[in-house]
Amino acid sequence: MRGVTHTLLGAAVVLPIAVSREPAVAAGCLWLGMVGGGLPDWLDLRSDFKTQFRLKHRGASHSLIVLVGCAALLYLGLISLQGSPAAFGGTAVAPKDSTVAAWVAALALGIGSHLGSDACTFAGIRPLLPFSQWKVWLLPRFLRSRSDGYLDTVVRVLALVTLAFGFVVYAGRWIARP
Ligand SMILES: [Zn+2]
Repeated sequence: MRGVTHTLLGAAVVLPIAVSREPAVAAGCLWLGMVGGGLPDWLDLRSDFKTQFRLKHRGASHSLIVLVGCAALLYLGLISLQGSPAAFGGTAVAPKDSTVAAWVAALALGIGSHLGSDACTFAGIRPLLPFSQWKVWLLPRFLRSRSDGYLDTVVRVLALVTLAFGFVVYAGRWIARP
């Protein structure tokens, strides 16, 4: 998939979590979903990790270890904020437990959506790197496409439709609130 598609898909997959939250938490979910959606390719193509660890495209950056590792880092970061409200000049903006859970899940889902959609392309992914070269695809061969092939368009349109639907549902809920 292209970068835009991954980002849109990352936002779309977190809607089930975001839709029942208050605006600030929901916005955080969407943002983390989009970050997660872009993260594996960012690690490969743009970041310093690329040169430092000699990452090959769709290598370990597209593995479950990155998903779990990033979710764990975010969890630890948010939990540490809870322990020290002074981190923000004494203002108590430490996230609640339910917010921490929602944001960590959003990041994991975003990264998961990236891995899942790349696993629908010809190249597939190797989710168990660096431990195993085992390769997976989520679609039968005749339905796979190139990263910029028909699937990119299909996924992008589906993500946009889902997002539009999500925003309508969300807006409806907040307008209908007493
Ligand atoms: Zn990718």
